[in-house]
Amino acid sequence: MRKALLDKMCCPFDKQDLQVTIISEIDEEIHEGIMLCPDCNRYYPIIFGIPIMTPDEYRQKGLEAPVMEKWGLSIDPHNPDRFVLENAQKVIEE
Ligand SMILES: [Zn+2]
Repeated sequence: MRKALLDKMCCPFDKQDLQVTIISEIDEEIHEGIMLCPDCNRYYPIIFGIPIMTPDEYRQKGLEAPVMEKWGLSIDPHNPDRFVLENAQKVIEE
């Protein structure tokens, strides 16, 4: 995913600008990363260069949890209906 695309990305639910943390890059493109919405607190991962921005009902926590774990993050179990990180603060600080 090209960095230039980040300017055009917004939260699909509330159209807020997303806060992006790049985890790894390949050839100056984002390979892995996390996008956070400051409004609804949802997170959208970038996995293998692909931003995952599908609606909650089409995402699977079982599939995303191992990736989040690899990045030192975890999905908040107190928000069963949405995709929120338990330790989003960690992403912001790094
Ligand atoms: Zn949002």
